[in-house]
Amino acid sequence: GGAQDRFEAKATCCYCGVGCGIIVQSDGAKVTGVRGDPDHPANFGRLCTKGSTLHLSAEAGLQQQARALFPALRSARNAPLERASWDDTLDLIAKKFADTIRLHGPDSVGFYVSGQLLTEDYYVFNKLAKGLIGTNNIDTNSRLCMSSAVAGYKQTLGADAPPACYEDIDHAELIFIVGSNTAYAHPILYRRIEDARKNNPNLKVVVVDPRRTDTAREADLFLAILPGSDVALFNGMLHICLWEDLIDSAYIEAHTEGFAELKQTVREYTPKYVADICGISEADLIQAARWFGQAKSALSLYCQGLNQSSSGTAKNAALINLHLATHQIGKPGAGPFSLTGQPNAMGGREVGGMANLLSAHRDLANPEHRAEVAALWGVDQVPSTSGKTAVELFDAVRAGDIKILWIACTNPAQSMPDQRLVREALKKAELVIVQEAYQTTATVAYADVLLPATSWSEKEGTVTNSERRITRIQAALPKPGATRHDWEIVCDFARKLEARLGKEHSLFPYRSSEAIWNEHRESTRGRDLDITGLSFAILEQQGPQQWPFPTGASSGKQRLYEDGIFPTASGRARFVNTVYRPVAEPVDARYPFHLNTGRLRDQWHGMSRTGTVAQLFAHAPEPAVVLSSTDMTRRLLKNGDLVHVTSRRGSQILPALSGDDMRAGQAFVAMHWGEEYVSGRGHDGHGSYGVNALTLPVFDPSSKQPELKHAAVKILKA
Ligand code: SF4
Repeated sequence: GGAQDRFEAKATCCYCGVGCGIIVQSDGAKVTGVRGDPDHPANFGRLCTKGSTLHLSAEAGLQQQARALFPALRSARNAPLERASWDDTLDLIAKKFADTIRLHGPDSVGFYVSGQLLTEDYYVFNKLAKGLIGTNNIDTNSRLCMSSAVAGYKQTLGADAPPACYEDIDHAELIFIVGSNTAYAHPILYRRIEDARKNNPNLKVVVVDPRRTDTAREADLFLAILPGSDVALFNGMLHICLWEDLIDSAYIEAHTEGFAELKQTVREYTPKYVADICGISEADLIQAARWFGQAKSALSLYCQGLNQSSSGTAKNAALINLHLATHQIGKPGAGPFSLTGQPNAMGGREVGGMANLLSAHRDLANPEHRAEVAALWGVDQVPSTSGKTAVELFDAVRAGDIKILWIACTNPAQSMPDQRLVREALKKAELVIVQEAYQTTATVAYADVLLPATSWSEKEGTVTNSERRITRIQAALPKPGATRHDWEIVCDFARKLEARLGKEHSLFPYRSSEAIWNEHRESTRGRDLDITGLSFAILEQQGPQQWPFPTGASSGKQRLYEDGIFPTASGRARFVNTVYRPVAEPVDARYPFHLNTGRLRDQWHGMSRTGTVAQLFAHAPEPAVVLSSTDMTRRLLKNGDLVHVTSRRGSQILPALSGDDMRAGQAFVAMHWGEEYVSGRGHDGHGSYGVNALTLPVFDPSSKQPELKHAAVKILKA
């Protein structure tokens, strides 16, 4: 580089769970460029369209005045936000917190945070809620993303740990992609799959998805299953493996428990029965099962198609059952590998940043675990009752049980299902605090207090990607305006609250993200994710490392459970007796279409970042509902005709597009566009809120993850 890019900092791309390493170039004041880090094992220098335009979004965010740069307060709900000092702002909210807790108890406040936060940010938020205030009312947008994967892993393998790694793609004989449009959502990982196919002509790829996505188009076998039928499919594949003697009885005998019961259940999942439920041919089902059972190594990659479901945990468990029964786990090229959506969903899980989790994969329900965390933090106890999870949290705010809601680094007024509920809750709350890098999100419109946070390229700390790899992130730029780091805001506030609550010793003495990380590291001692052998210095000198990495280790562990010993009480993996249940809202004569939602290739979440970069709209310039050509013809629709897409909760007007990726009876709307782009109205008479005006708040009973991937809708010409 020249004078323009005098400074270089190592970081990761903030757009997805692949966690590609990047080198950020800057002139000291602004980012001048970004390139892939050739030494990072997630991407070896490669970047996708989103990653390679990061520097453009950073600059555009500032130029277009999208960034929140100063603390701001609203004197009344309809008044504009007005600039205030940090001191006044934090004093005000500390007083309000102290008063509310005194009057209504600690559970009258709640936090809704984000998989965008760095591990250190997450750690202090969790400690603030559970350690200082004494409430478990802290949940995260990872609830909408990964909580079914967490529950699935814990129920079967005993710990929330993806057992495989990216390198397994190079060793696999079969790659089984389920409910993931990897080509769009995890592009660099997908390129690795393309490379593996070139290098290994015997590698087969099977894709399972209701839509014929770009990922599905390239598959050797594509199963276009009906939405929500995954458990039937996996049980059916296991049925065939049993029938054709493709299971590994010796492995089942030595390393698992609970198979007899599951065997009884899958007896009923005959090819005919399953093919009918899934809407696929028996021949394709049998082919998929044979390839899976016969492959020397089968690797499953899966994402929101399994997780965002009212039976998300069962879907995860049923797939893991299949891996256990065929011994496709704990060896190179094999394993059930859940891909994380957000860049640091894993880090959030590690510090226990959810309403039902505790630090270092501990369980809130376990009294010993609670005592361990209380001792680590130096507090008398952590509260035992599970906090409110995402949908429940907003329900409790709407009901008036939670009076103060603190939202950090996420945009629930677009991303949560059933927007009517969310908007009513935000209006009802006595105090809404929004900690954000952007002042343009839909949620900021509901903020009584706006706390400006640093963003990508300004932050430093750590993140963990899908393959359990921790990367140290360096800041490339100074903090713009009066912004503070997310962890600093939490600690500054916490110390003020401690003073009001009369605490003598602060639980938040940190002066750096490293000090926070060191405390987190200590909390992992002896746990499945033990990282006591790591330090910031090692991460900087030796590059990103996978956990576990205990004291004395010279490297992290690529692959888990190679010895067949699992972190359960008996040391055996557990088969879960998974039973197929249909979607929460089946289609009927009034609402005959299956609505599916998902990502586009070049956009991210609610577009606060990607929406500032013109070239990222070239791939898909505007929101649309995609229908099959059969349905377009049947309804006399031409490409671009406006239609009402209506569910029991709301309606939207969108242009209809014919797509050969859709089966008849199915509709797809991308998740990215919010109210400023879409016209229509919710049934409460307010604005349209994007596609989540239509989705429903029903969630999985174990993981509490909502069914964002399916709702019944009708489609009428506008
Ligand atoms: Fe960023 Fe994901 Fe693309 Fe890598 S694959 S550059 S992490 S969006």
